[in-house]
Amino acid sequence: METVRIDEMTWVDIKEKIENGYKTVIFGVGSTEQHGPSLPEQTDARQADEFAHIIALELGNTLQAPTINVGFSKYHMHFPGTITLRKETLSAIIEDYVNSLASHGFENIIIFISHGGNEEPVNAVLPQLREKYPEKKIFYYYTQDILPAMREMGQKHDLTFGEIGSHAGDMEASVMLHLAPDLVRKERLAKGYTKMITPRVRKKYRANGFQTITENGVVGDQTRATAEKGKDYMDHFKKVVFNYIRQKLEQ
Ligand SMILES: [Zn+2]
Repeated sequence: METVRIDEMTWVDIKEKIENGYKTVIFGVGSTEQHGPSLPEQTDARQADEFAHIIALELGNTLQAPTINVGFSKYHMHFPGTITLRKETLSAIIEDYVNSLASHGFENIIIFISHGGNEEPVNAVLPQLREKYPEKKIFYYYTQDILPAMREMGQKHDLTFGEIGSHAGDMEASVMLHLAPDLVRKERLAKGYTKMITPRVRKKYRANGFQTITENGVVGDQTRATAEKGKDYMDHFKKVVFNYIRQKLEQ
């Protein structure tokens, strides 16, 4: 059976892979949080898992560890169903993941973050891990170099940045229509906050909750989302993510 997912393999397979040049491992860190009335709570977790999988296959000689499906989502707690870890809990999970994977001999450990709230807790624990394993490359990807690709998608599909949205907007709705159409409540695709997320606005929702800027939980406009566009977004972003990771690995 051909798989790169560690949790679908046995220890015998994994040992063999590592001894035969599989020196890189990647895992996603998503969230279980509200994504408006139409998208499932697994939206970020699903994207993290799909992207980590695509990257593992494309890089080659890479295995995928199980996606962490819950993240730091405190500012979404107004909406039922959101589960949040404390920042220090997420940092501790990352630390335990990396320690485990490092002990098995992986030389490169890549963390794919699909949700903004996770960046700080992941980043917080990396310096000490790098110090502990100076010979290993341990890094994360989260939206680095993504702006030109977003601009391109905006022009191509006649969407503003605000409509593409940073949370449950055209981008995430389209991607979920592509990845998991049965989980999208299409009759409820909606428009939410579509103005720019300035540092002041971000500060406001991080402190007081997402409901203070968007009543339905959407930042962006889902009403023109399509599965085709979702595939287009993924293809565009895949290139950016892959280039970034490649560069990091070659440094
Ligand atoms: Zn999301």
